[in-house]
Amino acid sequence: MFNRLYIHVPFCREKCHYCAFVSSTPKHNELVEYPALLSRELGFHTNEARPLESIYFGGGTPSLLKPEQVARLLTEIAGQVPILKTAEITLEANPGTVDLFSLKAFHDAGINRISLGIQSFDNRFLTCLGRIHTTEQSRQAFQAARQAGFNNVSIDLIHSLPGQSLDQWGTELQRAIDLGPEHISIYGLTVEEGTPFAAIYSADCPELADDDLSADMFEYTDEFLTRSGFDHYEIANYARPGYRSRHNSGYWQRDGYLGLGVAAHSFLREGHGVRFSNPGTLAEYRLGILSGHPTRIEEQRLTPREAMAEYMFLGLRLAEGVSRYAFEREFGTPLNSVYGPAAAELAKLGLLLQTDEMLTLTPRGMLLSNQSFIKFIE
Ligand code: SF4
Repeated sequence: MFNRLYIHVPFCREKCHYCAFVSSTPKHNELVEYPALLSRELGFHTNEARPLESIYFGGGTPSLLKPEQVARLLTEIAGQVPILKTAEITLEANPGTVDLFSLKAFHDAGINRISLGIQSFDNRFLTCLGRIHTTEQSRQAFQAARQAGFNNVSIDLIHSLPGQSLDQWGTELQRAIDLGPEHISIYGLTVEEGTPFAAIYSADCPELADDDLSADMFEYTDEFLTRSGFDHYEIANYARPGYRSRHNSGYWQRDGYLGLGVAAHSFLREGHGVRFSNPGTLAEYRLGILSGHPTRIEEQRLTPREAMAEYMFLGLRLAEGVSRYAFEREFGTPLNSVYGPAAAELAKLGLLLQTDEMLTLTPRGMLLSNQSFIKFIE
């Protein structure tokens, strides 16, 4: 069962230097044929669908699709699965690929939330990252989104960029606030194997932020954005009241979602949950769809224990944390009987707060979240 839809658009105009996502420059008519494959793929899953509460176009660069393609695809989706009137429908957009005209057309197509990949307000960092847009284009895209009627705009920023100081990061945050988005997602740069960045920056390269500086940036961000009226509702996400990402919140609450497209991941609520992903190349993906037998990669039917671990490390990403009552209702066993020792150990390290009702990560626990989560998998 799923009530959310993720649509992966694996195309970008150029590859950013740090990017390890599945995306490439579209060839021939790949962009033209792609939406029809997505629509056809959904057709294989309609019996597992519930009315859709959210749809998320991610990538890659979904804003490379023409607005009329998005409009047609949304119409075809609605023809197969009901979309709730209140559904959140997000499109990720690269500021270098949109203007007032296209944003108006995306809005008319039914998109009601835009997520702009701004990443930095400093052109030197944008060049270093290999982004195709300038700071000026980012601001223009944001203003155009407002003019086009979007009252729910998210922006992405990256900290711990090569040579970036804490002061420079503070300036980035101030510029973000000046722009006035409803939602901000913030990630620390990671150098992924196989990217051009990995060839330039070794793990101990002095230009890269060390753990202490990254931690300072994380803590500064929390303090700065909270003081500016944002709710730090998830480790990497901040929202004005009422503007949390409903789609992404569904991931952390283990709602079922179907991922359409190349390399898309799915989580269906069957038994304790089924996870699988689609092939990572367009050729293989297309073959599966056109043959009537979509290929599933790495299908995993979760055991109760795996589902419990997921429940913990996804739920603890959220500021509210995990409810003992909800855990017991979901799994029929008290949380303490499974994770009592792990929770006690994390609490002793100052990473977790425990009450009679809830378990929540402390600010330090959020900073060292991977260290915290591993305790629920061991
Ligand atoms: S725009 Fe996003 S998905 Fe595309 S190459 Fe850059 S980081 Fe990767």
